[in-house]
Amino acid sequence: MRTTTTASQLIDDLVDANHVLVDRGVLDAYGHVSGRHPDDPEKFLIARNLAPGLVTAADIQVLDLDGGTDDERPSYLERFIHGEIYRARPDVHSVVHSHSASVIPFTISNRPLQAVWHMAGFLGEGVPVYEIREDAGMGSDLLVRTPELGAGLAASLGEGAVALMRGHGSVTVGDSIPHAVWRAVFAELNARALAVAVGLGEVTPLTAEEGIAAAKSNYGQIRRPWELWRAEARAGRRG
Ligand SMILES: [Zn+2]
Repeated sequence: MRTTTTASQLIDDLVDANHVLVDRGVLDAYGHVSGRHPDDPEKFLIARNLAPGLVTAADIQVLDLDGGTDDERPSYLERFIHGEIYRARPDVHSVVHSHSASVIPFTISNRPLQAVWHMAGFLGEGVPVYEIREDAGMGSDLLVRTPELGAGLAASLGEGAVALMRGHGSVTVGDSIPHAVWRAVFAELNARALAVAVGLGEVTPLTAEEGIAAAKSNYGQIRRPWELWRAEARAGRRG
């Protein structure tokens, strides 16, 4: 589903992704989305330290995988999430980091965030939870403030699509910005549906095979919601 070929197109997608993720309840004043540089896999593009709903093309910075940049404007404190996942996962071309409230219960309980809906088959039978105490001890502010903590989170993510962060939020990855956005939206909606279902009674999750089959089918349909959500976000910005 990779269609972005130039830095200019990637910046357009990144700006739209910020607004789409706000519209869909994945990002609020916090969280961020990035895209790997199309011409230099050792760099990525991400907004400067700014609420996602306010991001324009002029706010996009180019960072190296260590989080460094020539841009003098402040960068996100947790930029190391992105750099270390890009370093560990050559297949990943976009990363979303969210603090959305819907996933928090699954980061602090023994209930796995598993696929219960065909739209979220990519979650499989459950996603990993990164315990920052293993790398930062018992007194951290839970933020991924260093490359070492970013590497710990990337290791927890492994080859998966989503990792939760205990008491903090989540990361979602994809092979393009639309792919990562699509996954982040449906991980969020699956979390809400699962939390409701747990309150109703016994839950029937997808089997591993159903999750794989559903994810494969949905992968071919990512452009449809992306084009809708982007159009709605752009219409909202004009208003
Ligand atoms: Zn965070």
